[in-house]
Amino acid sequence: MSAHWDVVVVGLGAMGSAAVYHLARAGAQVLGIDQYAPPHNLGSSHGLSRIIREAYYEDPRYVPLLQRAYTLWADLEQRAEETLLTPTGGLMVGLPDQELVQGASHSAALHDLSHERLSAAQVQERFPAWQIPDDWEAVYEGRAGFLHPETCIRAHLQAAKAAGASLRLNTPLQSWEALPTGGYRLQVGGEYIEAAQVVFTAGAWLQELVPVLQPALTITRQVLYWFEPLQPALFTPEAFPIFILQDAPDHFVYGFPDDGHGFKIALHVPGQPLGVAADLSQQVAPEEIAAMQAIVTRYFPQAAGPLRKTAVCMYTNTADHHFAMGAYQPGLWAISPCSGHGFKFAAVIGEITAQWVQGQTPAYDLSLFDLDRLMGQGRVDTRGSY
Ligand SMILES: Cc1cc2nc3c(=O)[nH]c(=O)nc-3n(C[C@H](O)[C@H](O)[C@H](O)COP(=O)(O)OP(=O)(O)OC[C@H]3O[C@@H](n4cnc5c(N)ncnc54)[C@H](O)[C@@H]3O)c2cc1C
Repeated sequence: MSAHWDVVVVGLGAMGSAAVYHLARAGAQVLGIDQYAPPHNLGSSHGLSRIIREAYYEDPRYVPLLQRAYTLWADLEQRAEETLLTPTGGLMVGLPDQELVQGASHSAALHDLSHERLSAAQVQERFPAWQIPDDWEAVYEGRAGFLHPETCIRAHLQAAKAAGASLRLNTPLQSWEALPTGGYRLQVGGEYIEAAQVVFTAGAWLQELVPVLQPALTITRQVLYWFEPLQPALFTPEAFPIFILQDAPDHFVYGFPDDGHGFKIALHVPGQPLGVAADLSQQVAPEEIAAMQAIVTRYFPQAAGPLRKTAVCMYTNTADHHFAMGAYQPGLWAISPCSGHGFKFAAVIGEITAQWVQGQTPAYDLSLFDLDRLMGQGRVDTRGSY
């Protein structure tokens, strides 16, 4: 006799740890499994910090989700009795007619969010670490900051266990198949189990588990850099807000204050494409470091001290950079909010996933994320393997 679960959640990173928590709270008999022991540094959720912001330049339809995410992160923070979110304020900086500044202003105005529009001179006066062209502008929002991703994942997993979830770490899903009688049979760490529903929150590995999504997803290698500031006082979390900077139509840079690990900066541009997650190289080439040093020197000259460290991570991208999530056949859920901006939403995505699995309709416009836009008409998988 195979063990039988209401729901199995495959992948316990940012999204899976939140999903397993909300499912357990809702009373489901839920098993969460991961091939590793999250939080780990082999997927998409490591590197010590993830931006959270509200005046969302990508589309104003994200704002109600963010507002719920802020509430849920605060709730989890109280349960965990640990800091999950460090508020710093946030700057979206660039030419006033480009996507970043225009989009952030539009979302802020539409949702009546507290924000300020700053000239280049005002940015440099208030935040003297910055050096930018005179014709640039910024949107400043006071509510932005950064989440501590590893602590968030640990907190969600601990809260999930406390709410009754079962977790199996270092246990890969090897294969799955739809049962003719309904539900699914899964091979997990060499053993067979059954589940009425399955949630795939496998990040960069999702395309291998759900082959129907493979043509729609591109995995890319992303590098994070930490520099030693020359003037540390300019880069403390009190003095230096998180930022995104757009200096060309498709060129975005983002960064964080020095919270003890150095000034962290990275490109928010899809990096080198990978066939599968296992192709990821952790090596960072000298040319990559030199290119980032040039950016730091141009915009933050007082941060251009020695490189402290780098890390390599993966984006799972869709062509339109919106998330991919929903049921792709009855009882089988693919939840992939990435394209490099999903972490801040993990808490609310976990709640939405639990509502979907229970047959409820979440109170948000989720049309941006529809799986149908990504899948060829009529394509269905009845099995998959890893
Ligand atoms: C460099 C970088 C910077 C980013 N910056 C930001 C930011 O500032 N703000 C923001 O909001 N977002 C940001 N993001 C995006 C955000 O981090 C991701 O959207 C999010 O972490 C994705 O979480 P996930 O749960 O989908 O994937 P992961 O956290 O990688 O989890 C997937 C899990 O599935 C497991 N798994 C895979 N296959 C199997 C299997 N066969 N069996 C069992 N388990 C399996 C893996 O081991 C892994 O633990 C960034 C991403 C990167 C890479």
